[in-house]
Amino acid sequence: MDCPVCDEPLQEVEYEGVKLDHCEKCDGFWLDAGEIQKVNAIHEKTFSEEQIAKAVDLLEKKAIVGKSGETRRIKCPKCGKECKVTSTSGVSVDKCPDGEGMWLDKGEIEKLQIMAEERSRIYTDEEKQEFREGADSLSIFRHFSVFMHKVLKRD
Ligand SMILES: [Zn+2]
Ligand SMILES: [Zn+2]
Repeated sequence: MDCPVCDEPLQEVEYEGVKLDHCEKCDGFWLDAGEIQKVNAIHEKTFSEEQIAKAVDLLEKKAIVGKSGETRRIKCPKCGKECKVTSTSGVSVDKCPDGEGMWLDKGEIEKLQIMAEERSRIYTDEEKQEFREGADSLSIFRHFSVFMHKVLKRD
């Protein structure tokens, strides 16, 4: 499988115990459907308050200016079909139209993890239940607005 951004062959790497396809050139990751939940379920990494604040800041900026190179078209490395830029609550990812997976640019996987960890810390039981019921490959983004609201409100 080749990188959808720079056409270099993707290398299989272990990220927190989950095998993912990684591009050494652009530092992006291809995640097959379901792999994001595996990564988020493991939580080996812990993030500092500073990293969390930085991730939130980056995501906010991105929500305003859009993904860098917004006009690019990425082809799914599995089926070759054009990926759809799926935007949920202001966060964009390139997702296979057949649901085979998604492409994450450099640093985005860490941001997703930070969000998942924050969510497990600050969400109420009711919200967690709601999240579990709606779990799919993009559910990480679904509660983004709730997450942002809580983080920004925090002292
Ligand atoms: Zn690449
Ligand atoms: Zn595909």
